[in-house]
Amino acid sequence: MANILVFAHQQGDFLTPGGKEALAFGSRVASSIGGEVRAVLLGTTSEQSAKEAIACGASIAYNVQNPLLAEYNVELYVNCLYDVFQQTNADMMVVSFDRMGKDLVGRLAARLHVSAITEVVDFKTNDEKLTWIRPIYGEKAFGEYETTRLKAVVGIRQKSQDITEFTENHIGEIIPFEYTVSKEEIVTKLVVKIQAALSDIRLEDARIIVSGGRGLGGPEGFSELQTLANLLGGTVGASRAACDAGWVPSNLQVGQTGAVVAPDLYIAVGISGASQHLAGITSAKTVVAINTDAEAPIFKRANIGLVADYMTVIPALTEKLKKV
Ligand code: FAD
Repeated sequence: MANILVFAHQQGDFLTPGGKEALAFGSRVASSIGGEVRAVLLGTTSEQSAKEAIACGASIAYNVQNPLLAEYNVELYVNCLYDVFQQTNADMMVVSFDRMGKDLVGRLAARLHVSAITEVVDFKTNDEKLTWIRPIYGEKAFGEYETTRLKAVVGIRQKSQDITEFTENHIGEIIPFEYTVSKEEIVTKLVVKIQAALSDIRLEDARIIVSGGRGLGGPEGFSELQTLANLLGGTVGASRAACDAGWVPSNLQVGQTGAVVAPDLYIAVGISGASQHLAGITSAKTVVAINTDAEAPIFKRANIGLVADYMTVIPALTEKLKKV
């Protein structure tokens, strides 16, 4: 029977949406190939998230309660996940391919000498083989990748799994897992922590995103987008060009190498619509584009398009909303 280990990432006492998606995916693989799902939780101080992992399908939740793991550190996390994988004879590790997952998956796979399969949205089984399905070419196509053995670290694409089908009645066991490491052994050290986000709403969870690109011409334009986002109850995102220019922090980047988002409303302001940017908004329900160039590719994706200067549209829209 296959032992599928899922990194059930939590924030505070609760699993993150990515952690739940990874558990959902792990459960699907387990029921398809005959196996069980076990969760591993790092740096938790309570059993709340371990209980949640069990409610989400895990038969065992390994709770690693080392205070050094409370703060994300790639070196420690890889070492610890490696230990849990080896000591529990796991066959496969499933991780959400969120920001942390993007940091972890390759390193962990290299450490375990197994395949790394990233951005996975689905899978198929036939005989001894598992076929992993993931978007390629900026989501213009789907690629199928076969692995002949189970041993792999699988990164699940954000927002690709249904996490609604869990029951609170599922029974499982919480097992404390011993992971010892001394501060002196840690090579990577957190030097400073900078509060980067402009808003408390995580991009990945936002229902409304007002996103800005190079067309804003500078950081000042983002203040206007922030005012609009606040009025709409949303948050601000950005293209890579705007982040690379230093106008906004890089954690606001939407796209292939940034956040994959699924809002009800995505307003793209001064963003051309490069394939790498569009790869992050494929699940957005309604896309509104504001761009001076009628030929900009963003208009092919947009449900509503305004060929206009943002400096005219955004203040007018903001004023209108202030009166509502
Ligand atoms: P531009 O392409 O320069 O577009 C600016 C737009 O603003 C233009 O369409 C212009 O007409 C419009 N404009 C100008 N003035 C105004 C105005 N006053 N009012 C309204 N509109 C105006 N990009 C991402 O965004 N996310 C990613 O995750 C990402 N990952 C990448 C990964 C790789 C491996 C590579 C190679 C690239 C990646 N990129 C990513 C970069 C991507 O290819 C584009 O370069 C980037 O998205 C362009 O950003 P932009 O649309 O803001 O800028």
